[in-house]
Amino acid sequence: STFCDLGLDPLLAAHMTSKMNITKPTSIQRAVLPLLVKAPSEDTAARDVFIQSQTGSGKTLAFLLPIIQDLLPLSTHSYIDRSIGTLAIIIAPTRELAKQIADVLEALLTLKLHAEGESEDDQNSTRFTRWLVSGLLSGGATRTHEKARLRKGLPIIVSTPGRLLDHLQNTSSFNVGKCRWLVLDEADRLMELGFEETIKGIVQGLDGRRKLAIQAVKEGKSMEVGGWDWERRRRTILC
Ligand code: AMP
Repeated sequence: STFCDLGLDPLLAAHMTSKMNITKPTSIQRAVLPLLVKAPSEDTAARDVFIQSQTGSGKTLAFLLPIIQDLLPLSTHSYIDRSIGTLAIIIAPTRELAKQIADVLEALLTLKLHAEGESEDDQNSTRFTRWLVSGLLSGGATRTHEKARLRKGLPIIVSTPGRLLDHLQNTSSFNVGKCRWLVLDEADRLMELGFEETIKGIVQGLDGRRKLAIQAVKEGKSMEVGGWDWERRRRTILC
């Protein structure tokens, strides 16, 4: 199957192919994309997805592509509507991993999407992504600098847990009221590194507004994370 067969926007798929040379979905992407790119269910429990997959299986794109596609229709403005705040939060256990995810995200967001017949420098060629700005919050930069960027509006954030909780508690301009996505990448490492209470705090900070959660862990590991009742809620995908 192709990415389009799985429901991915043809422009996004075509662009990923031309720019990143990625054409064929991996097995985790084939399993996850159809669940995440369709209209979100009204039932919040049914939206949560628990992914268990090997490192290197392509899980980063499996959660980033549905997030980008979900936010595309909101990005018709050429300006950033600061009142929208943050719509997607991805949490990773280490700065290094957060940076890797942020780099992939940045590559996807700077893809120039252009329909057939349009030249690359056509006004419309970046219409899907001009508004979508991603940011890395990881304690590598000063808190003041990150606060300034949050004030300007960061629709998609990749962060380490401690710094994210810090901003949720202390940065008044950090608006997560419309946040639709929360991803916990390498949830097993988040727990091993002792972030359980921090994750609980973040989930509480998002105050039930979380629309979808993905936990990506290595094969064979399963756990309760951040106080979620996965026994009742999760749909587990093993790849
Ligand atoms: P990940 O498991 O997300 O860390 O991805 C591992 C590597 O696989 C990364 O270098 C990705 O760029 C690459 N990758 C992800 N999806 C695909 C795909 N569908 N086809 C080829 N390479 C991919």
